[in-house]
Formats: sequence, C-alpha cells, structure tokens
Amino acid sequence: MYCPICKHTAMHRNQLEENLTAYECSQCSGRWIASYQYWQWQEKSGKSLLASSAMDDARLSVQDNPKAKLCPECGHFLRRFPVGHGVEFSLDHCGNCGGIWFDKNEWEVLKGRGLHDDVHKIFSEIWQNQVRQEQQARAMDEMYKARFGPSDYAKIIDVKQWLQAHPLRSELLAFLKA
Ligand SMILES: [Zn+2]
Ligand SMILES: [Zn+2]
Repeated sequence: MYCPICKHTAMHRNQLEENLTAYECSQCSGRWIASYQYWQWQEKSGKSLLASSAMDDARLSVQDNPKAKLCPECGHFLRRFPVGHGVEFSLDHCGNCGGIWFDKNEWEVLKGRGLHDDVHKIFSEIWQNQVRQEQQARAMDEMYKARFGPSDYAKIIDVKQWLQAHPLRSELLAFLKA
C-alpha cells in the first residue's frame, strides 16, 4: 500500500496501539488506519480501557496536508473533515472503504484529548454541524473584534460575561438603555 501523499513510498505495518495496526509512511510519518482495523480495536478495547489521559500536545507539530488525496486502499478521493473542538486540523476519510488518513502527529494529538476512540464520530453529520456552528461563532467574534478594535472588544466581552451572570441582569440592561 502506497502513501497517499508521497505516492511512491510503500507504507509499512506498525503497531499503533494494543490491538491496533496501522500503515505508516517512513517519509512523511503519515498513517493509514483501515476501517476493519479501527473497528476491531474499538471492539476489543472497550470504552473503559480507552480512558483519555490529558497529555500536553503543545509541542507536537502537526503537518496537516490539505491537498486532495486518493485512498491507498480503494482509489476513491478522500474527503476532509475538520475535527473542531479546539483542534485545528482536518482528517481525511474514505467514504467508500471507511479508511482514515492521519498526517504526522494527528493521532497523538487526538489521543492526548481523548478523541482517538471517537474518530468515527468526526465523520458524522451531527459532529460536522457542531463544527460549522463553532466556525460561525468564531467568525462572528472576529468580525466584532475587527469592528470594535481589540481593546474595546475585550472590554465589552468582560461586561457581557458580568451581565450574563448577574441576578439583576434585566434591570442593568434597562439602566444602560435609559
Ligand atoms: Zn508519506
Ligand atoms: Zn477507500
């Protein structure tokens, strides 16, 4: 099986976790996990054993490759799915055979956040809707920040949070508008 990025580099089998074998590219350090391998691992490990361990992933450099890739197993185009929830990269998933491509260190970052055993959920409609909502909220924040300027924006966010938590919120708002 050849690496979908390096094209001519054959990937080698690698024991990624207990009960989980992946194909790894020695050139770009990307990894391919076949659908049946992922699900076998899920079944054998069970949710309890996959408890997340908060790991410091700040030093792990991810090299998310946005180029279009072909599935190394079945040749279909891989589709990109943003992970969201504070994770900046996207995963590439084959809708035909279900395999998943991880660029260098992406698996480690997901594992550090306890998301590595939820990878299949990232490709679901519900998950992707949440990601879109996050992106929209972030775009709105950026728009207001640009409009008000960073210093006034920080001030108004403070006021907003203080108001939201205040028991006399409605009265305070009425006072401001009066
Ligand atoms: Zn490669
Ligand atoms: Zn495929």
